[in-house]
Amino acid sequence: MFTLLNPLLYFQQILEKTEPEFLQFKNERQTWLRPVKLQQLLDTKSQHSDSKLIVGNTEVGVEMKFKGMRYPVIISCSQVPELNELHLDDEGVSIGASVTLSRIETFLKQSMEKIPEYKCKTFAAIVEMLHWFAGNQIRNVAGIGGNVVTGSPISDLNPILMAAKSTLTFAATDGTFRSIPMDEHFYTGYRKNAMLPNEVLLSIHVPFTRQTEYFKAYKQAHRRDDDIAIANAAFRVNIESGVVKDCSMAIGGMAPTTKLAVKTVNFMVKRSWNQFLLEEVSSLLADEMSLPPDAPGGMVEYRQSLVLSFFFKFYLDVSQQIVEFDNGCSIPVSATSATAPFNRPESKSTHIFQEVSDEQSLGDIVGRPIVHSSAYKQATGEAVYVDDMVPLENELYIAFIYSTKAHAEIKSVDPSKALSVEGVHTYVDHRDVPGNNDIGSAAMIDEELFATKLVRCVGQVIGGIVADNQDIAQRAAKLVKIEYEEFEPIVTIEDAIAKSSFLSTPQCIENGNIKEGFRNSDNVIEGEMRVGEQEHFYLETNACRAIPVEDGGMEILSSTQNPSLAQSLVARVLGLQKHRVTCRVKRLGGGFGGKETRSDVFSSAIAVAANKVKRPVRCMLDRDEDMSTTGTRHAFLGRYKVGFTNDGKVQALEIDMYSNCGYSMDLSFSIMERALFHMDNAYKISNIKGTGYLCKTNIPSNTAFRGFGGPQGMMIVENWIGDVAIACGISQKMVREINMYKEGDLTHFNQKLVDFNLKRCWDECLKSSEYDKRRIEVEKFNKANRWKKRGICAVPTKFGIAFTALFMNQAGALVLVYTDGSVLLTHGGVEMGQGLHTKMIQVASQTLGISSEKIYINETSTNTVPNTSPSAASASSDLYGMAIKNACEKILERIKTYAIAKPNASWEDWVKAAYFDRVSLSATGFYKTPGIGYNWDTNSGSPFNYFTFGVAVSEVEVDCLTGDHVVLRTDIVMDVGDSINPAIDIGQIEGGFIQGYGLFTLEEHRWSPSGQLLTKGPGFYKIPGFTDIPVEFNVSLLSGVPNKRAVCSSKAIGEPPLFLASSVFYAIKDAILSARHDAGTEGIFRLDSPATAERIRMACADQFTAKFPSAVPGTFRPFFVRS
Ligand SMILES: Cc1cc2nc3c(=O)[nH]c(=O)nc-3n(C[C@H](O)[C@H](O)[C@H](O)COP(=O)(O)OP(=O)(O)OC[C@H]3O[C@@H](n4cnc5c(N)ncnc54)[C@H](O)[C@@H]3O)c2cc1C
Repeated sequence: MFTLLNPLLYFQQILEKTEPEFLQFKNERQTWLRPVKLQQLLDTKSQHSDSKLIVGNTEVGVEMKFKGMRYPVIISCSQVPELNELHLDDEGVSIGASVTLSRIETFLKQSMEKIPEYKCKTFAAIVEMLHWFAGNQIRNVAGIGGNVVTGSPISDLNPILMAAKSTLTFAATDGTFRSIPMDEHFYTGYRKNAMLPNEVLLSIHVPFTRQTEYFKAYKQAHRRDDDIAIANAAFRVNIESGVVKDCSMAIGGMAPTTKLAVKTVNFMVKRSWNQFLLEEVSSLLADEMSLPPDAPGGMVEYRQSLVLSFFFKFYLDVSQQIVEFDNGCSIPVSATSATAPFNRPESKSTHIFQEVSDEQSLGDIVGRPIVHSSAYKQATGEAVYVDDMVPLENELYIAFIYSTKAHAEIKSVDPSKALSVEGVHTYVDHRDVPGNNDIGSAAMIDEELFATKLVRCVGQVIGGIVADNQDIAQRAAKLVKIEYEEFEPIVTIEDAIAKSSFLSTPQCIENGNIKEGFRNSDNVIEGEMRVGEQEHFYLETNACRAIPVEDGGMEILSSTQNPSLAQSLVARVLGLQKHRVTCRVKRLGGGFGGKETRSDVFSSAIAVAANKVKRPVRCMLDRDEDMSTTGTRHAFLGRYKVGFTNDGKVQALEIDMYSNCGYSMDLSFSIMERALFHMDNAYKISNIKGTGYLCKTNIPSNTAFRGFGGPQGMMIVENWIGDVAIACGISQKMVREINMYKEGDLTHFNQKLVDFNLKRCWDECLKSSEYDKRRIEVEKFNKANRWKKRGICAVPTKFGIAFTALFMNQAGALVLVYTDGSVLLTHGGVEMGQGLHTKMIQVASQTLGISSEKIYINETSTNTVPNTSPSAASASSDLYGMAIKNACEKILERIKTYAIAKPNASWEDWVKAAYFDRVSLSATGFYKTPGIGYNWDTNSGSPFNYFTFGVAVSEVEVDCLTGDHVVLRTDIVMDVGDSINPAIDIGQIEGGFIQGYGLFTLEEHRWSPSGQLLTKGPGFYKIPGFTDIPVEFNVSLLSGVPNKRAVCSSKAIGEPPLFLASSVFYAIKDAILSARHDAGTEGIFRLDSPATAERIRMACADQFTAKFPSAVPGTFRPFFVRS
């Protein structure tokens, strides 16, 4: 009898009681077989010479999906008992090849409790490594055999297994068995090994360690959790009486296979374990593990430094252990910080906000932390996104065909093979566009919907295959043959500068007299900083359904932040008037600016397909497609010259900013405008000149991203602030304070700062974070520790609110009141998780004086509210909130008569009375932001309605030997006016901060020099994970700061907090400064953003990095470049 209380347990019990049996599944392309005995496995293998074995399919699945590998016969070994054995014997542990990594972890942990500790040093290393190996989902299905046989050069287990002197046992189809050591002869080349074609791996035997043996493994990845290694290593040494008896070193990530450092090991045997050995080994390892500058994987100086750093850590670790009982060498206390693992306690956080006053009626929900109106639906999975919508009966799917060349002429396109695939309906390209194939997502028409002759980036759409479903369409699309004539591409900003490849003439803002400013300066420094691009990485990739409707019209259901642009572009490409095109948006699974324009280009191509086949057509981009075609945040290069007095007062700034726009303009012009408007961040610079250059390159068109150029502009400011502090020998805090704006100051674009609450945020944040006290503690820590360093930094932000294009600062709303008193609210804004609809319901509820339960927002659509601006620029609540208020006030005005007549009656009674009296119960609302507008020619006017302010203090700890870091604590104080919804605003602050953290420390695209994106998936492109959240994270909203310039006295919050994550970057820089000081290097140094582990490690320049000077650029072709 099973209990039905827990259905999962019920099925698990059934599965456990069911004897596995031989299974076979077959379709026209593949056969899948599952033997359940070893002999069955061997027989099946010998019957199918073209078969592929799998266990968890975590490696083979990736090969099939992304590398185009085809395996007609798959044999699953997951249920073969002999391959699932896991037991201890006298010598160690024997692990069946199919045993999952999770099972190994549990088993070894349990074994370590029973066996003497000294025997389990390898086990401990495996358990520790498994913690950093993939995620639970992978570890629960992936087998150890899969890791060994794949033989990836960055496998995490192979270095450990090899250094431990493990043995592999194979079973062959002829009935024989053979065991071999897992030594330097096992891997014979990149993902090749000495296993014979008729063999399967049966088991791996890992020996115990001896009393005098030491074992440790190391892994360095881009992100600590759930990431593949950049390099890894395992070291084993047996030391008796201070002399090395035997040892092994296995290193990953330095060659086509995991590599044993045989030469170095030979040297070590019979030598004393001391400082001399360390120095010799460092030199030998550097030689044995050397990489040419163009080595696959890139980061050559970093990887080589890591190997030495790993060994140095091992050396110190072992020395610490042997000193206790074996006459070992002692090491200085400050050096022990090299061996201390990161100890990351669970995160804790506080949220502080002002509660509404006691006088506010209970029914008035403005200012209260109301739950997001879709929160429960999203948590349960009931919330509907575009691709969740049930397909229409005759719906088809389109898979796009993208350019595989960055810059080329299309010589021929042959879709014939694709068209012959069953289920394929048609091939679509520019010849099927009935309207205009020339498009542009902003003011400039400089793109083609489908490329005609010239392709200007990898990922540009050339055509599409329309088929019965996604699987057929994607398979057939791969069969479209395209021939190109290639030209030299421009990929990086530096390339574009060298070749004068720009999209327009430079933009410039100038104020004061910079010549005089530099003359009045005691010091002038020049510097350069790069701020990398950022992938939007919304959970929902771009998705759209285009449905042909009556009279040649088209309905678009899209994941767009900009339904009106979708409508415009579809009308343009189909040659229709806009009233024939409707774009509807339910909700987005994140947008972050990535769906402001690029999603509308994508929907237009789908609309062309739907128009051709006269049937609904759907598409949802795969993650790799989305990443390699839809653009990112612009990478920036800032070159600056700053003049200042000896006490740190800035006198003059001249800055050139270059952005990598990709192949077309999109929103690049406005993004550079915002960067120029924010080139002051929070500081009064009387003499200033900023010039923005839009670099035209052969990568996908870059686009809006939360902050819209502001973060890049402000990042460069904070960089030179740090330079000024170093140059003057004073604290960064002091430089920031000396230069910070004051109430009534004019910005460099001559906007007067009123209600300037930044200083209050600054003072409150420094106080609540105990900045001064912790600064002293950080310095103390740094004096006591050589290889772990801490840094702390406070950064302010002032973010301008409004679209810089004046006409976009308008909004519409429609309020429909039904006779039961329920209200259907529609406005032009899009809900993308930011809580806009929730806030709008709060505003309507307060204005109408009714419960929020009576108000519903169904969707955003162009046939209810026309000519909308995109949901962007943090401005949606301000704009639509006012438009909604305006519409609600019109309704109230009409209902007032009935409310006055019967004050004790209900809302429903008043509505009914109005209806029977033939009063209109629908109203449109409209709003345009008053008093803004900027003149570029005269540098006058007010581009912004107001500013949102914030300050963050972050403290980090850096591992100087690996470049790893942890954020120990972040405190944020923000002025968001009178928050409409503190729960949503604090969520935005936390989310924005973490997204900014990704931008400034982690996320990085890498491109081949020929313009191919190498980081087009979560495997290579890392966004922050859970353990990247600051260990202590405190967010506080400034109280008593109503903002008279926006709805309900609130302030915009979407974009401003993102930049506060730069406090982590500059805290890291602060920590590196201390490491450099210890290494004997002083002064200003360059650290580009993001502060990846690679950049941090290399900036902590020391005796190890010194062994690997960078090769001269231009003398080799790098494996990758940064755009
Ligand atoms: C998201 C993700 C994260 C990952 N993270 C990591 C990581 O952090 N570190 C790391 O090292 N790896 C990582 N990997 C790689 C992969 O998960 C491991 O290599 C895993 O151990 C493979 O096991 P599997 O059972 O899934 O192999 P499968 O994909 O089933 O098979 C892999 C190969 O092994 C062969 N094979 C399997 N069993 C046998 C056998 N008994 N005899 C002969 N050949 C056999 C197969 O034929 C195939 O060639 C990751 C993979 C993914 C998808």
